[in-house]
Amino acid sequence: MRIAFIGLGNMGAGMAANLVKAGHNVRAFDLSEVALGQAKANGCETFPTAREAVQGAEAVVSMLPNGGIVKRVFTSDVIGHAPVDAILMDCSTIDVATAREVAEAAANAGYDMVDAPVSGGIAAASGGTLTFMVGGSDDAFKRAEPVLSAMGKAVIHAGHAGAGQAAKICNNMLLGIQMIGTCEAFTMAQKLGLDPQTFYDISSVSSGQCWSMTSYCPVPGVGPQSPADNDYQGGFATALMLKDLKLAMEAAETAGADTPLGNHAKQLYEAFSQNHGGLDFSAIIKSL
Ligand code: NAD
Repeated sequence: MRIAFIGLGNMGAGMAANLVKAGHNVRAFDLSEVALGQAKANGCETFPTAREAVQGAEAVVSMLPNGGIVKRVFTSDVIGHAPVDAILMDCSTIDVATAREVAEAAANAGYDMVDAPVSGGIAAASGGTLTFMVGGSDDAFKRAEPVLSAMGKAVIHAGHAGAGQAAKICNNMLLGIQMIGTCEAFTMAQKLGLDPQTFYDISSVSSGQCWSMTSYCPVPGVGPQSPADNDYQGGFATALMLKDLKLAMEAAETAGADTPLGNHAKQLYEAFSQNHGGLDFSAIIKSL
């Protein structure tokens, strides 16, 4: 397929490279020359504007920083410029309301569109092992699935437009809460005289077990390899966790959902990110 790809940063670079590996003709656009150079080296064809990249495309994929940018790019450069039978897929993490607004603008112009945010970081993006949570009609999902499958290990239909973003922020709110809880438990265990490895051996097979403990332990040298073993470099940045918690709290307010722990997690990540936004989100253990 001819696939336009807009936004080839940390995540988009690896995703576009996997589309090339799957045999697609990838038409890349990014505002950054560095990102475009990397995309070219990975086998993409590069274009000086988004409008040129989407010309003649059968599918459009975007991986952009936020909802404002997604709305601008789709309303000014994609809708009305890509062929109307192209399937549109936004994989960025953005707010539910903007995702629905852009999908509606696309539908009004005759396009099928899905929101398809991902779980998994930069390594999963380049390894082709992302999980996609997809919002859109049954038809749009069927058309998007084969393209998304070339970039991930799981593609799940979450519901109508915006449902992918809703699933993503509920998941990441839970992740943020669980990470802080895991950090608190290890810190308290240590203060009570328990060896961290011993506490891990017990809790990882007991009812306190969770992903933040057994796949991403915030204590160096305990559990499988994680950013904690690399001085909290790489992984999922604290600033990105804060972004997702802010989106989650906005959505909770709009939906009238009561999320006291989500709100507290947002406040703790807000304080921690002031000086440590670039560290992996498990580094919040340093603040306890
Ligand atoms: P990034 O900043 O590395 O990449 C974003 C890219 O978009 C940059 O190359 C930038 O130049 C480009 N861009 C910005 N405005 C543009 C425009 N108007 N037109 C074309 N290109 C434009 O960010 P990232 O880490 O790749 O994240 C992208 C999205 O994926 C975000 O929404 C983020 O929340 C989400 N996400 C990131 C991770 C992660 O671990 N990094 C994990 C899951 C989801």
